Amino acid sequence: MGKAILLVNMPDKCKDCEFYYEFECIGRCKLNSALVQKDEKPDWCPLGPLPKKKELSYEDFAYDSRAAAWNSCIDAITGTNRLKKERRQQDRLMNWQQD
Ligand code: SF4
Repeated sequence: MGKAILLVNMPDKCKDCEFYYEFECIGRCKLNSALVQKDEKPDWCPLGPLPKKKELSYEDFAYDSRAAAWNSCIDAITGTNRLKKERRQQDRLMNWQQD
């Protein structure tokens, strides 16, 4: 079975999380039905942070190649690659219509 990533805003507290719900005044996490405190975020919270992009050194070609590939993966996860591709296609279409 394939894997999936769900991109959501990282909450500081359970009450700000889209997976938080209350049933009869008791807070729970929708991801595992565990009891949670709405003003806290438990250590076992299944949400993980998105890795940060790497800065290019412009001095070490091997490092920069790996960093560019890493950053491209981050863009693919966040959908930035798709947005850039759509924008390029729109620009091409606009240029074609002006010609
Ligand atoms: S434990 Fe994590 S995923 Fe679950 S409600 Fe709290 S912040 Fe959201």
